[in-house]
Amino acid sequence: MFEKVLIANRGEIALRIHRACREMGIHTVAVHSTADADAMHVRLADESVCIGPPASKDSYLNVAAIITAATITDADAIHPGVGFLSENADFAEMVEEHGFAFVGPSPDHIRSMGDKIEAKRLAIELGLPVVPGSDGAITSDAEARQTAEGIGYPVLVKAAAGGGGKGMKVAEAPEELQETLDICRREALANFGNDALYMEKYLGQPRHIEIQVLGDGHGNVVHFGERDCSLQRRHQKILEEAPSPALDAASRDTIGKRVTDALKKINYRSAGTIEFLYEDGEFYFIEMNTRLQVEHPISEMICDIDLVREQLKIATESPLSLTQDQITYNGHAIECRINAENPVTFAPNPGRINEYHAPGGLGVRVDSALYSGYTVPPHYDSLVSKLIVHGANRNECLLRLRRSLEEYVIEGIETTVPLHQKLIADPQFLDGNYDIHWLEAWMAGNANENGG
Ligand code: ADP
Repeated sequence: MFEKVLIANRGEIALRIHRACREMGIHTVAVHSTADADAMHVRLADESVCIGPPASKDSYLNVAAIITAATITDADAIHPGVGFLSENADFAEMVEEHGFAFVGPSPDHIRSMGDKIEAKRLAIELGLPVVPGSDGAITSDAEARQTAEGIGYPVLVKAAAGGGGKGMKVAEAPEELQETLDICRREALANFGNDALYMEKYLGQPRHIEIQVLGDGHGNVVHFGERDCSLQRRHQKILEEAPSPALDAASRDTIGKRVTDALKKINYRSAGTIEFLYEDGEFYFIEMNTRLQVEHPISEMICDIDLVREQLKIATESPLSLTQDQITYNGHAIECRINAENPVTFAPNPGRINEYHAPGGLGVRVDSALYSGYTVPPHYDSLVSKLIVHGANRNECLLRLRRSLEEYVIEGIETTVPLHQKLIADPQFLDGNYDIHWLEAWMAGNANENGG
């Protein structure tokens, strides 16, 4: 096993990785920007290296500084966490070229899955069902019109390099298509430096269901069932649950097997997630994330597995220690993403935490780097905590979540805790009866009720 791992990230996910390392007797190196000198991930790590000023591009995305930090601290491996450099194939390649193990997939897999057009082509080749759409990139406006006629409106125009819910736009009818293409091309170029677009049928009421996998790079791949991430705002996940209220054991096994069969063909290594839309009993591949996901803890809770520990073992080139038969599902888990934002307008609200008290008790897990007296810096993602609750069944999980949200004290900044409290009291949510469009409609309804 590694003796020392450098964690190229910050906040709760850096802490999450640190915890797995400590339990395995691995020393950790934290990296941080000047804005994060007092951050919890720096305080808990065995060593830390300042890698630059606050702006992410000069620190957490500063490849040269991170490789240098790994060199001077004599680390064996680098874990990229989520976001930042975690899906940057050039970074993964450079880490390996400098003699460190990269705790993640092979750079080639990161590269092909990072281009959404190439990912979709690969998904088809590997036998996964995809959303009907353009055959690869849209090469001309005329072709786009023809494709849209073929699949039927509404259509969704997407950027090949898109991510984080950015770079996609719906055209409801033929007369909207030209403008949609123009806007998407401009936005894709501005945000991702790549204006390649593709098109998909816009599904009216799908759920977002994703399958968590682990592969060892030697042809063994297992899955850990699904997560339902349909509750989204602007294509960003707000609350996730596992298992999905919409799936039964037979459909779980069927889609799980299709996914593992597909990934065995490419000798996939490390953790990954295949995201699908699910409508009328059919699955449609939308993308693959070649990294750990923010919502991975709910799979850990129901499968009783530490995915980061497994990632670390795989990165030492060990074969998978688990077979599919050994993976069983126990109870129900829900994760609430708690952001430093106004719960109604979602305006970021960084600042000093005057008082902090996290909920606890049976079945409650808080993945957060907050503490009393800490100042949430304004430079980074507004996710500050993940409240993850496990129960013997969905009902027990919901009751436990309700009391955990009641207990949670975060004073000094606004957070999305009140949004979650309201959401989990809604009868339709309690029934598990929602799709990817439901949350936005529900929020618009609440705004009207409040007279605004
Ligand atoms: P990103 O990489 O930006 O997260 P995805 O392709 O994963 O983009 O899609 C993000 C979300 O956008 C999905 O979870 C879903 O809510 C919505 N979406 C994507 N494709 C479609 C589609 N064809 N029809 C309807 N909604 C879609």
